[in-house]
Amino acid sequence: MGLSDRDKKHLWHPLTQHKLYPEALPISTAKGVYLYDEDGKRYIDGISSWYTCVYGHCHPYILERVTSQMHLLDQVVFSGFTHEPAIRLSEELIKILPQNQGKIFFSDNGSTAVEVGIKMALQYHFNRGEKRNVILSLEEGFHGDTFGAMSASGLSVYNGPFEDFFLEVERIPVPTKSNLGNLLEQLEDRLQNGDIAAFVYEPLVQGAAAMKIHEAEHLNAVLTLVKQYGVICIADEVMTGFGKTGEHFASDFVTTLPDIICLSKALTAGLLPMGVTTCTRKIYDAFYSEELAKGFFHGHTYSANPLACTAALAGIELLTSSEIQENIRCISNWHLEFQEEMEQHPKVMGTRQKGVVFAMDLHLQTDRYGSLRDKLFNHFMDSGVFLRPLGNTIYILAPYVIQREEMDSIYTAIRTVLKIV
Ligand SMILES: *Cc1c(COP(=O)(O)O)cnc(C)c1O
Repeated sequence: MGLSDRDKKHLWHPLTQHKLYPEALPISTAKGVYLYDEDGKRYIDGISSWYTCVYGHCHPYILERVTSQMHLLDQVVFSGFTHEPAIRLSEELIKILPQNQGKIFFSDNGSTAVEVGIKMALQYHFNRGEKRNVILSLEEGFHGDTFGAMSASGLSVYNGPFEDFFLEVERIPVPTKSNLGNLLEQLEDRLQNGDIAAFVYEPLVQGAAAMKIHEAEHLNAVLTLVKQYGVICIADEVMTGFGKTGEHFASDFVTTLPDIICLSKALTAGLLPMGVTTCTRKIYDAFYSEELAKGFFHGHTYSANPLACTAALAGIELLTSSEIQENIRCISNWHLEFQEEMEQHPKVMGTRQKGVVFAMDLHLQTDRYGSLRDKLFNHFMDSGVFLRPLGNTIYILAPYVIQREEMDSIYTAIRTVLKIV
């Protein structure tokens, strides 16, 4: 029996309606920007395997570091124990994070990083004896699949069965030049109630909304206002973190800094799952008490796994190297050139770019996961390029180590797809 048939026997894949999509493509190996299937056909990983493997797959330096760590300490309980990789990672993260961040809390993935952020914010107010129970978030935001994260997500098209169990969340439109005045006015009215605990947002790029981009200046106006009313600002940088926007973090573009930052995806260079929630000293101090119950009683079995911490440390070394920083600048410039070309194309409705993120909308109406989207996807795969269009949006977020010719293969596949749709 081939891998494909064995897959169908017992496996249930994420985000998959198996009756409509019975086939999963077996991938055997990965190296650099390439994925290789069973038959040896290779695909450029144009989305860095969901924005994780930004330094390329199976990076020799990351493998070497994690392999050495593996022989020293594999896993240990992180309550009451500590270890060098976690301590070191906290030090290295603080060096590159926005300067107001002071504490690092570990979990397992992006959703839990957000879940922790929301719980921290709620308990922060609770510990201070304030009753605040409403979470503010952006329309079309995506924050993950656990209940708190799901509640905060505006993109809840598939969340029907769970909606009755959500946290109390109110959504505001993404701030733009044209709506900002109105938005701030209404928001200020709403804030008078004093019941808003936190504002959760993806800074500058909303990934799952098909790489929608907003201006730092407009986001900053919202952050400044909500902060005046004691609202805890939670930046979900699970997607944007570690260089995607051109800076280490999207929050680096915004003057008003978040109280809490959620990280995952590229955090461990795509090698192992891990989530991190960082916060300011002010948040931490609201939990620091003689009273046991004021502590933060949240913990995951694999919190601060030493191997994941080591992968993250090696990843940060690569991120901050002049070579990777130069690559990020190059990719950004290539995208700008390609964007200019695409802007002229009659089948293209709009384009956007930030750092290594490029997105373009086609002049076509289609469902998020409809048949046109499948046609685009299949065309790309046939051309040896793995891109994952969302509705009528095609986007690129390739590993930082991609070469010019490889990026050109992606651009060419997009040019060709425009001819056939
Ligand atoms: C992917 C993502 C999450 C969820 O992360 P998981 O590791 O899939 O749970 C949360 N927020 C944003 C912005 C994301 O892109």
